[in-house]
Amino acid sequence: MSAAQTPALPSVPLAPVVCPLCQHDQPIPLFSGPDRLQGVPGLFRICRCGNCGLLYQHPRPTPDALDMIYPAEYPPHQADAYQTTQQSIHPDMLKMAQFVGQQHPHARTLLDVGCGSGAFLRVVQQTYPNWQVVGTDPGAGAVAAARQHGLTVHHGMLEQLDLPRQQWDVVTLWHVLEHLSDPVGTLDYIRTQLLAPQGVLFLAVPMADSWDARLFGRDWVGWDLPRHFVIFTHASLQAMTAQSGFQPCAEEQFFTDYFATESLRWRLAATAMPYALRRISIAATYTRPFRLLIQPYIRLAHAYQRTTVLTGAFQRQ
Ligand SMILES: [Zn+2]
Repeated sequence: MSAAQTPALPSVPLAPVVCPLCQHDQPIPLFSGPDRLQGVPGLFRICRCGNCGLLYQHPRPTPDALDMIYPAEYPPHQADAYQTTQQSIHPDMLKMAQFVGQQHPHARTLLDVGCGSGAFLRVVQQTYPNWQVVGTDPGAGAVAAARQHGLTVHHGMLEQLDLPRQQWDVVTLWHVLEHLSDPVGTLDYIRTQLLAPQGVLFLAVPMADSWDARLFGRDWVGWDLPRHFVIFTHASLQAMTAQSGFQPCAEEQFFTDYFATESLRWRLAATAMPYALRRISIAATYTRPFRLLIQPYIRLAHAYQRTTVLTGAFQRQ
């Protein structure tokens, strides 16, 4: 892109960080990339910790840059998120609610941390009408959108909110842990301050040891730079949850072709082929024949539990 075409937006301020899991300072750079979802200006870098192997963004956006990396049009914060145009991202939200109910049949209270505009909370309300459901989100726009739906949602960072202590049967972190600056601290806080004695933590994260990630490399949507500060593998997720006093009790992957297809679109968009051909190729990924074509891969990855997103339930150790 020429200087004349470059938007006159400031780059996101970045600061070096130590490994969010082991606190060592031995980052090994893997690759750098732009924000391909929201177009936030800048180049962002994924490193591997030379001590524990965690993949994390280094340097990463400073705390006062959050408004820049979560612009007002960030899809999960929209009032109609996952209901209209974003339906394809989470066709499995009902399955997630059912998974929670199956793993904790006696639950009556649920706290959804990073609830966005409250799409999951609404599904839970419909599925379990006698549950008390509450959300939290640091995004003012997301909270306003959730409240439009009549939901009880607290605005702010989790640790700074005055929530009932040790009373939550279920705490959910759907696609949240990878966004946090101190994921170990937040998991600790959930275990010691929020969960009821028999409470269960649920989380969903993109996995860098998924087949999608290996197939698409830096074009994999799971990186979502610069919003993902940490990217997990099965090993690093196990290490982080164990360090925070949790043990896994169930793991699930829901069947969706969204992440593989979207990664392919990113790959096609980044190729050097002529513009028209690129447009046609990307348009083809929205057709039914294409969806049928990739079904064998999706089914195989699902059968081996190696699709992009892992959904897990965790109890105290
Ligand atoms: Zn480390």
